Amino acid sequence: MDWAVYGVPFDSGVTFRPGARFGPRAVREASQYVKRFHLHHNLDVCDRLSIADASDAPVSPFSIAETLDKVVDFALGLPDGSESPAAADKADTKLLAIGGDHSIAFANLTATYQRLGEPEGGLALIHFDAHLDTVDEVWGERFSHASPFRRAIEQGLVNPARMLSVGIRGPLNSADDLVFAKSAGVTLLTCDQVRSDGMREVDAFLRRIGRAPAYISFDIDVVDPAFAPGTGTPCPGGFTPAEALDLIRRLAGVSLVGGDVVEVLPDRDLGGNTALLAAHVLFELLALDACSRR
Ligand code: MN
Ligand code: MN
Repeated sequence: MDWAVYGVPFDSGVTFRPGARFGPRAVREASQYVKRFHLHHNLDVCDRLSIADASDAPVSPFSIAETLDKVVDFALGLPDGSESPAAADKADTKLLAIGGDHSIAFANLTATYQRLGEPEGGLALIHFDAHLDTVDEVWGERFSHASPFRRAIEQGLVNPARMLSVGIRGPLNSADDLVFAKSAGVTLLTCDQVRSDGMREVDAFLRRIGRAPAYISFDIDVVDPAFAPGTGTPCPGGFTPAEALDLIRRLAGVSLVGGDVVEVLPDRDLGGNTALLAAHVLFELLALDACSRR
C-alpha cells in the first residue's frame, strides 16, 4: 500500500464557523467522479500507486489535544498492506489526511515524521492557504487551526527554511503570525506575488528543497470563495481552481512523503463544488507521487 487516505471528522479547532467535521464524507462522496488517468502528467495514477481508503481516525470533539493524540496513534498504527510486522516497512506507506479543520495537519505531520524515522532537520513543507497558520495562541489555545505550523516548526517536524506558504492574503488579526513566519525563514508568497512573478520564486524554492522529504498541506480556502464557498474562514481574492491545480502540478519532482486537504465545510458548499475540488486536489497530490515512480 503506497498511500493510506483517511478522514479526520473534527472541527473543534476552528476560530470561526464550524462544520468541517463533515468534510471527509463529502469529499469521499465527490471523489466518485475522480478518474484515474492524469492528462497533464500523462500517467495512470492507479497503475503506479496502490491507494487505500483507511477509514476515519477517532476524534474527541471536546478536546483538541486528545484528538491530536488519537489521530497520531491511529495514523502510526495504520498497516502498510504487507504481512511484514517490520516497522521499517511503514515508511513506505504514506499518509494522506482529509480534514477536518487545519488543526489536524499537526497530527498527520507528526505521524508522517515518525513513520519516516524522524528525518534529520525535519520535513520540507508546501502550504497552500489564505492564512499563515503560525499564530502562537488564540483564546489560550495553542493547537487550534490557526497554529499548526507554529507548533510544527517549534517541535522540529518542519524545517522553516524549507517551508513555502503560498496564497497568503489579508486581512490578519495582527502582524504576529507574519513576524514569526518571516523571522523563522518561511518563504511567503501572496496571491498577488504569484500572479506577478511568483512562479520564479516557486521554482527557486523547489530547487532549494531538491529531494528533501516534502509534505503538502492544502487548505481549501486558498481558492477564492467564489469557487470554493464551502469553507469556514473564507477570504476573497484567492486563486481560481485552475491556478491552484497548475501550482500543484508544478511541484512534480518533489519527494512527497505525506499530505492533507482540509477545511471543507459541506453545509456552506454550493452544488458540491468545494468538495469536488478537494477530491481533485487529493488526486493531484497522489499524481505528484506517481510522477516520481516512472
Ligand atoms: Mn489553514
Ligand atoms: Mn485558511
